[in-house]
Amino acid sequence: MSSHDDDNSVDRVKPIKRAPVLWLAVIAIFLVCVSIVTFNVWQLEHAKNHELYQAEIATSNLSKSLAQQAEDTFDEADVVLIDLVERIENDGLGPAQIRRIERLLAKHVVEAHQLQGVFYFDRTGRWIISSFGIKPASANNSDREYFQYHQQNTNLGPHIGRAVRSRTTNDWVIPISRRVNDKSGNFDGVVLATLNMKYFDQFFDSFNMDNKGAIFLSMTDGTILARRPFTDDVIGKSLAKGQVFSDYLSKSTSGTAMVTSIIDKVTRLYGYRQLEKYPLVVAAAISEESLLDEWRQNSFKSIIIIISAVMANILFGILLVQQIRFGLQAEAKMRIAQSSLEKLALQDSLTGLSNRRHFDQVLNVEFRRSERKKAPLSLIMLDIDFFKSFNDNYGHYAGDHCIVAVADTLRACLNRAGDLAVRYGGEEMAVFLPENDAVGAFALAEKIRLAVVAKQMPHGDNPLGIVTVSLGCYTCVPGDENTIVTLIQRADAALYSAKKAGRNRSMTFDGDA
Ligand code: GH3
Ligand code: MG
Ligand code: MG
Repeated sequence: MSSHDDDNSVDRVKPIKRAPVLWLAVIAIFLVCVSIVTFNVWQLEHAKNHELYQAEIATSNLSKSLAQQAEDTFDEADVVLIDLVERIENDGLGPAQIRRIERLLAKHVVEAHQLQGVFYFDRTGRWIISSFGIKPASANNSDREYFQYHQQNTNLGPHIGRAVRSRTTNDWVIPISRRVNDKSGNFDGVVLATLNMKYFDQFFDSFNMDNKGAIFLSMTDGTILARRPFTDDVIGKSLAKGQVFSDYLSKSTSGTAMVTSIIDKVTRLYGYRQLEKYPLVVAAAISEESLLDEWRQNSFKSIIIIISAVMANILFGILLVQQIRFGLQAEAKMRIAQSSLEKLALQDSLTGLSNRRHFDQVLNVEFRRSERKKAPLSLIMLDIDFFKSFNDNYGHYAGDHCIVAVADTLRACLNRAGDLAVRYGGEEMAVFLPENDAVGAFALAEKIRLAVVAKQMPHGDNPLGIVTVSLGCYTCVPGDENTIVTLIQRADAALYSAKKAGRNRSMTFDGDA
């Protein structure tokens, strides 16, 4: 087919929009993956925060009940001391009085489990009253921290001292003491109640906590009085540098905080609370490990499910993209096949030139265009000379070859993009030349004729002994008088004239002829 077909073919193959579909699929799969991951990460974060919130409530409640218990325990001991001070200051201390008080105190100690002992030391530190009834003659407690505190402070309120080992039983005890004044208000000794550390240990142990959990009772300066888990070396140690004391207690007297212990380096969620009546702090803590243990196990399962879902999605995505590719490729092949079919439908099968159908289509389009532009167009009709006898001499098969050779020669002579070569019928061909004048058309006709002659195809019945062609040209500007029909008729008439004039020639339509 001529180059005209490439330019004007109405049904050329349209470019396939493959990339947007593929990209959309890839983006969609990517977004699904991102959504799965984002949603699950958000859920895990939410679950973690929920666990922490629950743990905060639990530790906060625990610290509250511990604070209450500690306050009650010290209150009970302090009531005994208040009563003892009152008796010493008002009833005096005769031997009978001392024995009576000691019996009473011994009863208190038996009844109140937290009490280890109750004592009175005079202004020199000598043991005057002991709930144990035993008063070693040499014993003197003037060296104790609480004794010196009351000696130096006129404050009559209770004082809680550092945990010490009892001089009577060697057990760990927490001392609570009060100052005793004589009638003129001078220091007259110290009353002391010692609280069993074991009592706190047992109480702390009664809580169902994880094995890395912790509970402690300390002074407000951070000195540990009791702690679970209990170890000897921890008692009396200072927590002042721990975050609970350094950061949190200074801001609020109660709260919760995730802190790494300076004692055992375990990270725990602490619920802490400072007592209102006593310079004491209690805290209950759950280890981060145990409080997030279930969450971690669930997270692990969730992550496996997320990875599986994402992998499945990616796999599905790959298959989808492949399917789209196959589909697009099949579509492209179909388009090419369709376009080939369309081409074939417009092509002459023997010569490959355009057929009459295509010629009619192009003629209609170009005629209207030239009419609008008032531009001339030309038609050349070509017919092989003495072809009947060529067939007779050489056979129909050789005749077909001759037609193909002339068509190839004709095609080779065209050099304008819009020119259309047609097999018009039998051994007749036409060249349609849009926007070409009579001079151009005639020149082309001659070029074709000479090219056929130059081929020197033998033809015994042609007077020249070779195959020749006759050509008729007609040029017009389409309008009322010049229609497609007149164009063809007049080109044909010019061809007839060329035949009549002796063949192997080109002639332009002459209206007068
Ligand atoms: P003229 O010089 O006047 O054209 O004489 P001519 O013998 O060529 O006469 P005409 O053009 O009428 O001849 C047409 C002949 O072309 C008739 C037929 O035998 C032959 N022909 C038509 N189509 C084909 C074809 O497809 N193949 C072959 N081999 N021959 C064809
Ligand atoms: Mg003919
Ligand atoms: Mg002929």
